[in-house]
Amino acid sequence: MNDRHYDLAVIGGGSGGLTAAIMGARLGARVILIDKTTLGGDCLHYGCVPSKALIATARLAHRMRHADRWGLTAHEPTIDIQAVMARIASIQARVGEHDSPEALAEHGVEVAFGGARFLTAHRLAIGGGNEIDAAFVVIATGSHAMAPPIPGLKEAGFLDHRDVFSLTELPARFVVIGGGPIGCELGQAFSRLGSAVTLVQRNARIVPREDPDVSSALLDAFVREGIDVRCAANPVRVERVDQERRVIVEQDGAEVVVASDAILVATGRRATIRSLDLDAAGVAFDERGITVNERLATNQAHIFAVGDCNGGPQFTHWAEHEARIATRNALFKGSSKRDASLLPRVTFTDPEVASVGLSLEQAKAEHSDAHVHVAPFDKVDRAQCESLAEGFLKLVVDKKDRILGAHAIGPEAGELLAEIVLAMEHGIDLTQVGSAIHAYPTMTRATRRVADERFFEHGLDSWAARLFANF
Ligand SMILES: Cc1cc2nc3c(=O)[nH]c(=O)nc-3n(C[C@H](O)[C@H](O)[C@H](O)COP(=O)(O)OP(=O)(O)OC[C@H]3O[C@@H](n4cnc5c(N)ncnc54)[C@H](O)[C@@H]3O)c2cc1C
Repeated sequence: MNDRHYDLAVIGGGSGGLTAAIMGARLGARVILIDKTTLGGDCLHYGCVPSKALIATARLAHRMRHADRWGLTAHEPTIDIQAVMARIASIQARVGEHDSPEALAEHGVEVAFGGARFLTAHRLAIGGGNEIDAAFVVIATGSHAMAPPIPGLKEAGFLDHRDVFSLTELPARFVVIGGGPIGCELGQAFSRLGSAVTLVQRNARIVPREDPDVSSALLDAFVREGIDVRCAANPVRVERVDQERRVIVEQDGAEVVVASDAILVATGRRATIRSLDLDAAGVAFDERGITVNERLATNQAHIFAVGDCNGGPQFTHWAEHEARIATRNALFKGSSKRDASLLPRVTFTDPEVASVGLSLEQAKAEHSDAHVHVAPFDKVDRAQCESLAEGFLKLVVDKKDRILGAHAIGPEAGELLAEIVLAMEHGIDLTQVGSAIHAYPTMTRATRRVADERFFEHGLDSWAARLFANF
């Protein structure tokens, strides 16, 4: 038995764990990072990186088909799905170089492979053998896909995000169950690559957490592209007949059969915590994940949990943000708190969906003077030059010009968020944002446009009054 003591043990080498381990080592702690398989986590292997790489290929295929929009001859691309997946694998290999054990060693982090489980509140077993002690522990074990209890689904066979990036054949007919960000991103990508996609969404709208106008603009775009979107549709059972998988969907009181060659389940992910033996450490958890306070500490003050495993928002940048807070709080007895109110969200569909902060409805509940300003992208020259002028930026502001929320759909909408998040974080109001010079012709001119509109609609009276007062 190899018995060793560490200042900080990090369990899980994904987005949250890598950040915690590197930060801990840079702060001078003796750190061990333990992963049961490989470093990089869902984001690198089955999430952000492969999905965005797939989306890039699918977008190009779509643009080739519609090249006449840009004054070129339209062309039907030949899709070799194995070549597409090989490109994705090579991108993963390049991105993963930063996450290798060698790269971690350079930061001063020791890496061990094997499933970690608690023996006591300070002692961990790694795989079948090694045991270590740690003064502090950060748990970052992520999440896994959750299949809905639809009768016949399991027997018929289905895919989740762990399977789709190793497909060797493109399903001719593909049913995607779930119309959240992952279902929408992958559904559109496979449709553009040539699958006939049916998206089955239980909610009345797709991306239901987003602004209703954003949801309906995305729905329109999907329908225009030929994706068969069924909203307010409940998959009640699945039947398998030879190679065909039939999803029986209840919609408007009637049952419809959607025939498919493959089913992708994208109905949510649940915290991966079962194998940790949290009871041995006396760490509290429930069906959502490990219970943490705002400092990300569990009920055991020296054990922290970050990222998907604590049941909070499931984003790489959120896992990283939480990891920084937890590591600081552990090693410096700090009291930094997480605050998701300024968490930016991007869904990488085309058009892209991006949002931060409050919806108008939420804002009105807190600020009676909250209202909305919109910049349609057909008024943004860059969007016109790109022939991508559909979409809009909607800003929710209060009477004092404070930005309370932003909701956008359109080309690279996610890129608009950085400036807005910075303004919200540091109390920079919309007029101040608008007074900064925004390079022409960038998409950020949309934000400038909203600021101008706001000024001329509501700011002019007081401005004019001050001007005339000088005469
Ligand atoms: C298809 C898809 C697309 C996505 N796209 C985006 C996106 O564009 N942007 C974005 O911000 N987020 C995206 N996400 C979400 C993002 O991938 C996750 O929120 C993020 O990876 C969570 O990080 P984490 O550190 O909590 O967990 P993970 O990155 O999943 O890491 C968990 C690690 O813990 C290890 N582990 C588990 N149990 C144990 C154990 N007992 N012992 C040792 N190791 C263990 C696992 O092997 C894994 O390496 C996407 C997710 C999916 C599925």
